[in-house]
Amino acid sequence: MEPQEEEEVSGSGDGVLDLSRLHLDSLAADDDVGGGEERRRATRQLYLNHNRLAAVPASVCLFANLRLLDVSNNGLSVIGEDVTRLTQLRTFVAKNNRLDETSLPKDFGAMQLEVLNLSGNRFQEIPLQCTKLRRLQSLSIGGNRLRSIPAEIENLTSLELLYLGGNFITAIPPELANLPYLSYLVLCDNRIQGVPPQFTRLHSLRSLSLHNNLLTYLPREILSLVRLQELSLRGNPLVVRFVKEMTYDPPSLLELAGRTVKSRNVPYSRCDLPSNLLNYLDLASKCPNPKCAGVYFDSCVRHIKFVDFCGKYRLPLMHYLCSPECTSPCSSNPQSDAESEDESSVPADRLQRVLLG
Ligand SMILES: [Zn+2]
Repeated sequence: MEPQEEEEVSGSGDGVLDLSRLHLDSLAADDDVGGGEERRRATRQLYLNHNRLAAVPASVCLFANLRLLDVSNNGLSVIGEDVTRLTQLRTFVAKNNRLDETSLPKDFGAMQLEVLNLSGNRFQEIPLQCTKLRRLQSLSIGGNRLRSIPAEIENLTSLELLYLGGNFITAIPPELANLPYLSYLVLCDNRIQGVPPQFTRLHSLRSLSLHNNLLTYLPREILSLVRLQELSLRGNPLVVRFVKEMTYDPPSLLELAGRTVKSRNVPYSRCDLPSNLLNYLDLASKCPNPKCAGVYFDSCVRHIKFVDFCGKYRLPLMHYLCSPECTSPCSSNPQSDAESEDESSVPADRLQRVLLG
């Protein structure tokens, strides 16, 4: 082992110390660790992956200028406080260990990490310390046992890449849409049933991986993701034909009256009506069917509309209509419902790759 380290020291000189695959179960804290103090001070990247470490050795904090630490593929169940003393550390990789939410030190969130990879561990939830890493640009917790994403994810305002594929996540919190620089979002191989309409705020999103989930439709707001270049949807039970809406509660007399007042522009003023009715009339939503001038209040029909992408794929998008009659032109011939404003608002070149098959 020693000769290898000597080679490293005299050899590279690029600040990389590779101690991977050496069957190490510890890293002694004596002066020879990593080839002496001078060498340790010069080390920027330390690779301890594929060893037999049960904990991150306390002696790593002797590498005061470390920027990258890789402790992947050990038997790690604990990351000790020592790691938090590495003030220069920007990239921490601890893939394929036995870590869970009890494994991270209390002050982990105070580190200045930019890249954190905890994929292939045993996390059932994202540790709250991770949501405090304000400089974090890349977070990977794929292949764990996550069931949810905490709303605190919105605190990671520098995040550009989020990889959470291969977990048991059932829902996406709307707070995820508050990440202004998020460009790559991987949520494939989960149990997600819906995409929140707030996704329209993800202006930087270039790639969205949703394959192998439980999606049946997408929110129509997804059309406003103007930067999106890659969308993967294969392996979802996406509806492929018009679905007749089963649940439609008939509008109340109040709603019928309100619809008539709004759609026929019946004039009214502050003196004519009590304030609760004035407020109610303000809540009217315009029916999105371009052939219908109607409005609705509480009673509406969930409607799946198919929109062409790239002239090749038809995506099911969800929107609301004022009544079942409003859908009948579509239900009789869904394919002819293609010339509405949605179509022209989607340039054919917007989505370069839509992966459905
Ligand atoms: Zn309508």
